[in-house]
Amino acid sequence: MDRQIRRAAVIGSGVMGASIAAHLANIGIPSLLLDIVPAQLTDEEIANQLSLESKQVRNRFASQAINKLKKTNPSPLFDRDLVALISPGNIEDDLDKVKEVDWIIEVIVENLEIKQQFYKKLESVWVNGTIVSTNTSGISVNEMVKDLPDSFKNHFLGTHFFNPPRYMKLLEVIPGEKTLPEVSSFMKDFCEKKLGKGVVVAKDTPNFIANRIGTFGLLVTLNEMLEKGFSVEEVDAVTGPLLGRPKSATFRTLDLVGIDTFIHVATNVSEKVNNRSEQQIFEVPKLLKQMVVNGWIGEKAGKGFYQKV
Ligand code: NAD
Repeated sequence: MDRQIRRAAVIGSGVMGASIAAHLANIGIPSLLLDIVPAQLTDEEIANQLSLESKQVRNRFASQAINKLKKTNPSPLFDRDLVALISPGNIEDDLDKVKEVDWIIEVIVENLEIKQQFYKKLESVWVNGTIVSTNTSGISVNEMVKDLPDSFKNHFLGTHFFNPPRYMKLLEVIPGEKTLPEVSSFMKDFCEKKLGKGVVVAKDTPNFIANRIGTFGLLVTLNEMLEKGFSVEEVDAVTGPLLGRPKSATFRTLDLVGIDTFIHVATNVSEKVNNRSEQQIFEVPKLLKQMVVNGWIGEKAGKGFYQKV
């Protein structure tokens, strides 16, 4: 089959979805960026007397993500003008527009039931042959689509981008049990040759490869810090720039990923491993849970281990 990705749909416009759409735009691929319809109106919307029927309000999440991208500082890897290639929409009104795309990538919240519900909905408008992938950090690719027909499973796989997608070269491709070899090898090739990624093909095990190791490292560091009383700055000084890794300091990484997302990712492993010692290693410290309760979920909220000033 002569495949090409001419147009894509990115579902979920949060930290990763918006950046993946921007990365695609940078190589000239237009995309639809769809999110859920916001449940509540903002004060501004109420003041402007916009009703929930208004398209602008219904597309608020995706539109806000696009506006944020427009304010991102341009760099050799990011041209702001290309953001025009991203069209905002919402899942309720615009899902059937995915009929016009060659690749649908799901980038919604890291929760198995929510993802399963989404795939059920998607399958009703999906055109047989279109590639669908998930950006999950580590939920089982097979579980996500277990109740869907084989024709869908044949075209479904994991394409796990790392944060931030434009700068992180690593990408894991995770074929499911029923993914056609043609589909996996096409995506591997596309991600390497068109997106410039270094692809590692991973098995469908909890958190795949990179996040199994990465989550372990972050939790060990976090627990050591709490036990020995090191400060956030001290730990970041020795795990980041001073080691020549400007973007990978422990707590900067947690803020970038999102504390809420990190908890989902760690829990995904702790719930799947069978032995007690591994469960303990992947147990989420109370400190992180409290941060979520306080709304300190990282850069996306302006406050995490660091505060945006
Ligand atoms: P996020 O919290 O920033 O965004 C999640 C988006 O999903 C939001 O825009 C939200 O409105 C949307 N959403 C919530 N419920 C939904 C529903 N029922 N249907 C459709 N959309 C819904 O999360 P994120 O960090 O962008 O993560 C998205 C996915 O990417 C997750 O699977 C996550 O594990 C994965 N991922 C995240 C990172 C990271 O560093 N944050 C890195 C790699 C992979």
